[in-house]
Amino acid sequence: MRAVPVRIVPANPNAQTKANTINIKTALNVNVNDNWGQSKIFRVFTLIPIILLCLVMLSACQRDQDQEQGAELYVFGTIVEIKLWGASPEEAAQAFIEIQQMFQAMHRDWHAWEPGLLVDINKAFAEGRPATADEDIVEMIRRSQPLEASTGGRFNPAIGALIRLWGFHTSDYPIEGPPPSQTQIDEILGHHPSSNDIHIDGLQLTSNNPAVQLDFGGIAKGYAVDLTIELLRTLGIDNAIVNAGGDLRAMGTHGDRPWRVAVRKPGGSNVGSIQVQGDEAIFTSGNYERFRQDQLKRYPHILDPSTGWPATDIASVTIITDEGILADAAATALVVAGLDGWPEVARALNLQQIAVVDENGTVYLTPEMDKRMQFTGDVERVIVQIE
Ligand code: ADP
Ligand code: MG
Repeated sequence: MRAVPVRIVPANPNAQTKANTINIKTALNVNVNDNWGQSKIFRVFTLIPIILLCLVMLSACQRDQDQEQGAELYVFGTIVEIKLWGASPEEAAQAFIEIQQMFQAMHRDWHAWEPGLLVDINKAFAEGRPATADEDIVEMIRRSQPLEASTGGRFNPAIGALIRLWGFHTSDYPIEGPPPSQTQIDEILGHHPSSNDIHIDGLQLTSNNPAVQLDFGGIAKGYAVDLTIELLRTLGIDNAIVNAGGDLRAMGTHGDRPWRVAVRKPGGSNVGSIQVQGDEAIFTSGNYERFRQDQLKRYPHILDPSTGWPATDIASVTIITDEGILADAAATALVVAGLDGWPEVARALNLQQIAVVDENGTVYLTPEMDKRMQFTGDVERVIVQIE
């Protein structure tokens, strides 16, 4: 993958409404008659129609668009849409160039299988050598270690060897073919790779377990979005939304109203919306967008580190909290925790705003999340008190 140059999108002066549609990976069974449910993948692999939802940044009127600056950048195989409010075109252009440079460096340094810093670190771990990281990688490990512990190992960025074994070190989905053998899975599980096997001394890393292979797929987007917001603040920009393929963080407002995102069926009508409240992150982990498949089954890309097999009983988890890195890691962990386990993990992480969608399309919402999501369509909801 190669990062593409910055594309700055000027406001469209002719458009009264300009809605940019971004896929969010939330699955909701909002309408069993919807045609989307008839698409080939879903007909083959789901028992009932699952509807992919989109987040739409709600339109600005023409007057507002004079104040809005936008860009679409590319990192980690995802288009990142950025909107700024109240910055001058010159300030915005400068910000977008700096963000693009940052994304290029992340892409190079954090990639789990393309040559770069992380691949070098993993090679050193496998060979029992110390490695030199950079501040961002050290920070991701520092944040991961307590998260791995508090999620009971459900979030574990040291299982890169398992992720590779399943063939998920690729950008081309779906992957065709049967799952790896139990013997191959057991061989890796037997070494119990953990981020807590890594000792950090400044930028020096040592792992006392050669099976540790870092894969930041579960948090990199969250941390990238946090760093983008931080960079914008440093540049004096306080009103922005950064949307990485439906995972987003916002700060400030869109003029005299909050940033708003619509929950929407692709190409179809809105089924609801969320008003962003100041500075917060909204992240979703889904188990059906990236997967391996054979004639019998679909094997999604989020693995349960305790079994080495994909987590399957949750279709998606959406979390609202203040930080992208926490929201991203937590969403992955809750998918692994499954329908029975997610409330306990949510409690351990002190999260309140959570929506879980099961394979049948039922939506489980905490009361705090129920207040945030305004549904206009027909959605089967179950309120879950986790305190
Ligand atoms: P996405 O952003 O693609 O919806 P996630 O944020 O849940 O999904 O991240 C999934 C990615 O995280 C996988 O592609 C893999 O790189 C990595 N991963 C898979 N299982 C785990 C796990 N149990 N803990 C940490 N990372 C994982
Ligand atoms: Mg995640």
